[in-house]
Amino acid sequence: MNIILFGPPGAGKGTQAEILVRERGLVQLSTGDMLRSAIAAGSELGMQAKAIMDAGELVSDDIMIGMIAERMEGADCAGGVILDGFPRTVAQAQALDAMFADKGISLDSVIEIAVDETALFARIEKRAAETGGARSDDNAEVLKARLKVYHENTAPVLPYYKDKGQLVSIDGMQTVEEVSSQIASCLDSVA
Ligand code: ADP
Repeated sequence: MNIILFGPPGAGKGTQAEILVRERGLVQLSTGDMLRSAIAAGSELGMQAKAIMDAGELVSDDIMIGMIAERMEGADCAGGVILDGFPRTVAQAQALDAMFADKGISLDSVIEIAVDETALFARIEKRAAETGGARSDDNAEVLKARLKVYHENTAPVLPYYKDKGQLVSIDGMQTVEEVSSQIASCLDSVA
């Protein structure tokens, strides 16, 4: 099964993806993590991406689409993936559809984790404290920019999938367990 976890920064996509990896053996493809690995490796791409990420902006569609296409070639992806942080623009969603159609892969569900945005600032501050500030974009100022980009570029992806009847929205303000149990019911119903 192949699914997309969708939601603004701090919605809990990573937390829920980890649970799905454990419980369903899916492979998590987090574009944010891939970019942070590229930065840690000091690659050319990592150097370009760092400034963009630190400003809360989006890395170009071409780079991101290429990155996912290459990763999807991995044999481990054949059993199903959770896309976390991708697609983030309508162009990325269209490219993903084309890629899946080309490979004969099905997209089984797009799950939106809907949250109250005022709560996100507290969540991001908590994550920054817990990780010792490991992510340089985890602060209130960059979060504001990330939310603006989310509304302008990423939120339009929701109607894209809604029109195709693939979107399920879950209340992300519940406990981690409640959110994961609703995701589980939703996935069981499409399985
Ligand atoms: P969060 O889950 O908190 O929104 P991520 O770890 O997914 O953050 O992404 C961090 C940053 O990496 C984004 O702000 C953006 O700069 C870049 N990024 C990640 N995924 C994409 C994507 N699909 N398209 C463009 N930029 C991306």
